[in-house]
Amino acid sequence: MSEIFQHAPLLTYSRRGAIAGAFAAGSLFSIGVHAAAGLPRGLFSLGVASGDPEPDGVILWTRLAPQPMEHDGGMPALPVPVRWEIAEDEAFSRISRSGMARAEPYWGHSVHVDARGLRPGRSYFYRFIAGSEASPVGRTRTAPARGTAVDRLRLCFASCQKYEAGFYAAWRHVVEEDPDLILFLGDYIYEGAPNKKNAVRLHRNPEPMDLAGYRVRYATYKLDPLLQAAHHAAPWALTWDDHEVANDYAGALDEGNGDPVAFLRRRAAAYQAYYEHQPLRARPPRGPDMRLYRTLDWGSLAQLQIVDDRQYRGPHACQPPGLVEAHKPYLSKINDCADLYDPSRTMLGAAQEQWLDERLGKTKAQWNLLTQQTLMRQTVQHYQDGKAEYSADNWSGYPAARDRIFRRWAEAGTSNPLALGGDIHAFAAADIRNPDRPDDAPIAAEFVGGSITSLRPDPDFKPLAATNGLAFAENEIRGYGRLDIDAKGGSVTYRGLADARREDSPISDIARFSLEAGKPGLHVETV
Ligand code: FE
Ligand code: CA
Repeated sequence: MSEIFQHAPLLTYSRRGAIAGAFAAGSLFSIGVHAAAGLPRGLFSLGVASGDPEPDGVILWTRLAPQPMEHDGGMPALPVPVRWEIAEDEAFSRISRSGMARAEPYWGHSVHVDARGLRPGRSYFYRFIAGSEASPVGRTRTAPARGTAVDRLRLCFASCQKYEAGFYAAWRHVVEEDPDLILFLGDYIYEGAPNKKNAVRLHRNPEPMDLAGYRVRYATYKLDPLLQAAHHAAPWALTWDDHEVANDYAGALDEGNGDPVAFLRRRAAAYQAYYEHQPLRARPPRGPDMRLYRTLDWGSLAQLQIVDDRQYRGPHACQPPGLVEAHKPYLSKINDCADLYDPSRTMLGAAQEQWLDERLGKTKAQWNLLTQQTLMRQTVQHYQDGKAEYSADNWSGYPAARDRIFRRWAEAGTSNPLALGGDIHAFAAADIRNPDRPDDAPIAAEFVGGSITSLRPDPDFKPLAATNGLAFAENEIRGYGRLDIDAKGGSVTYRGLADARREDSPISDIARFSLEAGKPGLHVETV
C-alpha cells in the first residue's frame, strides 16, 4: 500500500462510504470496497491531462487502464471511485479543491472532472487517486479573469502526429517552451492498419472499426512518454480532423462512399473513444453526434473560436455523378467545376456557421484566433495537362464557405483575426484578403504549423508556393508553431525538428512572422 493511499481520503471514503451525494451511499460503499480491494496495478498507464481552461476552472482528465491494449483497459465492469486533487504547489501541501469522481465502465473508465472554484490566471498542480495508487502529477493553468487585460499569451499549435511516421521529439520541445496553452488541431491518432512504409514504429492493432479498436489505438498513442509529458505540462484545447475517425470523411460519407448508416456507426465509436481520451469540456457524444465547437477566452487579450470542420460538412465538390450511389471512392483531386463555388456547399454546417457569425460579431477580444483544421487559402496542388488540380478535402474544395468567414470578419469588424491550421503536413503562411476587395490590403493572416510527425512527400508544394500566394511553404521539416501575443503585437514562430525519426532530435526556428495589432497581414522576419 502506497503512502499516498494511507493518507488519502479515499480510505476514509471506503470505510465510511462518505462521498458527495451523487449516488446511493450503500451501493457506493460496496463498489468502493470492491474497487479499492480488487483493482489491478498500473491504473494510470495513460497519464493525466487537463484542458479547456476557464477563469475559475479547468477540466481534469484521466482514464484507468492497467491493461491499455485491452478494449476494457483491463478494468472490472464496475464503476470505480476516483479522488481528484488540485493544488497550488507540486507537493500538494495547499490543496485548493478536491473531490470524488466516478470512472464508469461505459466510458472506458475515463474521468472528466470540471474542477471549479479556482483563481483566474494561475498555475495549478493536479492528480488522481484510485485504488491504492496516485497518478502522475500534471500542471495546468486557469484562464485569466474574464474581460481583464492580460500581459501575454503563449500557445503552441500542432497537428498530425502519425505514430508510425516519427517519434514525439516535438512534444519535448513544446514542454520546454512553457506555453500557457497547447492547441491541437486534428489528427491526434491515425486510423490506418500497421504499415511498415516509412515507419519508425508500428500501430499495434488493425484498422479500428469499433469502440474496442479505437480505444486500443488511442492507448497506443497515449502510452508515448513524450506525448504524456506534453499533456502533463499545460492545459490543451483540441479539435479533431479526419483521422480521429477515417481518412477524408465528410459528414456521413467516408472516402469510399460506403453505406452512411454503417459509417455513422463507426463515427459514433470513434467519437466516443475521442471523448474518453481527451480533456474536453464538451458533453459526451450521443451516438454519432458530438458538439465540439466552442470558444475559449484569454482575458480581453484573445478569443479562440474552435471549430469542427468534419462532422457537419457537405459532400466533396466536383464528383462524377452517381459515384456516391455506386459506393465508389471519392475523387480527392479536383479541377474547377460549376459546383465548386456553389454557395450552398458547407464546411461547418448551417448551425455552426451561424454560431461562428455571432461569435465573430460579439467578441470583444483584441485577437481572434480562428482555430480550425487546415489551410484556408485556395491552392493549386498540381498542374495536370495545364489544368489546375485542387484538393477536394480542404477549404480549396469549399471556397464559398471559406469566403463567408472572411467577409464576416470584415463586415463585423472582428478585431485582429488570425487563422491557425494543420492537416497539410507542412508549414505555410499567407495573407487573407477580403474576397470582395481582393486588391485591398490584407484583412488577416493564416498560419499552418507543420506536423508533429506526419509526412507530405510532395515535390510540387514548394515550387508552387509563389503561384499559390504562400509567403512561406515548407513540407520537408516537421514541428509545430508557437504564437506569442500581447496587446500591441507579437509573433508566430515555426519550430522545425532536425529529424522527427529521432526521439532526441534538436529543434530550431525555421521562420518567424511578426504581428502588429491593427495592421493585419504577414510581416515576415528572417531567422
Ligand atoms: Fe494529418
Ligand atoms: Ca487531416
